[in-house]
Amino acid sequence: MKFGGSCLVDRSAFKKILKILELYKDEKKIVVASAFSGITELLLSTAQNVNNSRIIEDNVAILEKKHFSMIEQIFKADTEYYIKAKDWVDEKLSDLEDAFADIKEFGLEPYYQDLILSFGEILSTYILNQYILSKGLESVYIPANKVIITNDEFNNAYPFYKLTNERTRRLIIPLLENPKKDVIICITGFIGRNKIGYTTTLGRGGSDYTATILARSIYEVGIDKNITVILWKDVDGLLTINPKYVPQSTLIRNLDYNEAKHIANFGAKILHPKCLEAIEKKNIPLELRNFNKPLQKVDFTKISVLTDKNEIKGISTVEDAVIITVISGSLVDVPGVLAKIFKVMSKNSISVSLVAQSASEISTSFIVKGPEAQKAVDALNSSGYFSDFFEIKFEDVAIINITGFKILENTTKAIIFQALEKKNIRVKALTQSTEELNLSLVIEREDLVDAIKVIHDDLCEDFEAEKLDKN
Ligand code: ASP
Ligand code: MG
Repeated sequence: MKFGGSCLVDRSAFKKILKILELYKDEKKIVVASAFSGITELLLSTAQNVNNSRIIEDNVAILEKKHFSMIEQIFKADTEYYIKAKDWVDEKLSDLEDAFADIKEFGLEPYYQDLILSFGEILSTYILNQYILSKGLESVYIPANKVIITNDEFNNAYPFYKLTNERTRRLIIPLLENPKKDVIICITGFIGRNKIGYTTTLGRGGSDYTATILARSIYEVGIDKNITVILWKDVDGLLTINPKYVPQSTLIRNLDYNEAKHIANFGAKILHPKCLEAIEKKNIPLELRNFNKPLQKVDFTKISVLTDKNEIKGISTVEDAVIITVISGSLVDVPGVLAKIFKVMSKNSISVSLVAQSASEISTSFIVKGPEAQKAVDALNSSGYFSDFFEIKFEDVAIINITGFKILENTTKAIIFQALEKKNIRVKALTQSTEELNLSLVIEREDLVDAIKVIHDDLCEDFEAEKLDKN
């Protein structure tokens, strides 16, 4: 189970966690916790301002106050747990101050950023562990950088599963498989370590990923393969569409990994898109559940192999995309044009999200994020190859993604295009690769709201949730 910052806000939230642990009392449990709400941000902004000693002092004081006030709320004063939690915060904040001093001396290297950000989870998870202990349950605290071994990509690390499995086998399995003792294992979200021992982080919002990485490792090295990941959220789960566009949008109850990846990638930031990578090949189910409604029997989102192929799952959007088009007047069928375009993008660390090229190869369009567009265009223009032989155009656009097995049917596409025709909305580019249960349509930004509404209304019948709600 993973509890995010919004599940760790005050005394009553901690009580809810306890209630949830009791609900699942017959299961073996690993609890992954995020930093308290706002802490990761605060750590980051402090690290970026190390030259201002006033800011460091003030922010460390805020960190201390936030954690101490939580401790005051959730523990009886002067109990063993209260004292241990307070001592922990003191000790870690003093380590944190040393790290800020190092950054002042050596600069904010990516390594230091991860070190600094790791403190949020190290503080919150230890406090949660002491809280669980104080309620008479068995619990141990394990910092994830003892277990999750990653590559060297600071700020956005990937796990090495084989190495992580070995650590899991050594450190976690004996606790999980001990028949005599029922221990709740509390593990910090978000962090790992590389092979030489430096702390890494899995990317912002990465605690979801921690939970799925651990689930996968336990699956691979443990005896019991009946594992579920539950991410406790402050919403019921994934919605078919952002309610900002369509207020009557409904909950998606079942979807498969592939569908979920599309929706997580484009849609509401409820699920970290990377985290499905860890579990999909093992078919480990993942549930998104509302922290305030732990007893829900149907109103939650379950991602597993079970999906209805006759359904559209959701519609998601990218509001501020830019489409760049590279047009060649003469050089048709010259090999390597795409390679050259993407080399320029990759050299400039610009991520390309959608590519459309006609069979004639006369022009190639691709999508970049709004804020990166100018950099992308400048980079192409300053490369001699493109400025000499190609014309480069760009335009602000929005993208609509329609996801679900049903998108593979011609009739679904017919409905979508007829819907757009009613509002006179033109599709500027579109993609669907053969593997994908997703159709992406590029349209003008100002058409976005209308387009979503008509597509949603006309596809209504094909949504799983709508069918369920009618029954
Ligand atoms: N605390 C980290 C962040 O805010 C990780 C997480 O919340 O999942 O990005
Ligand atoms: Mg967070």
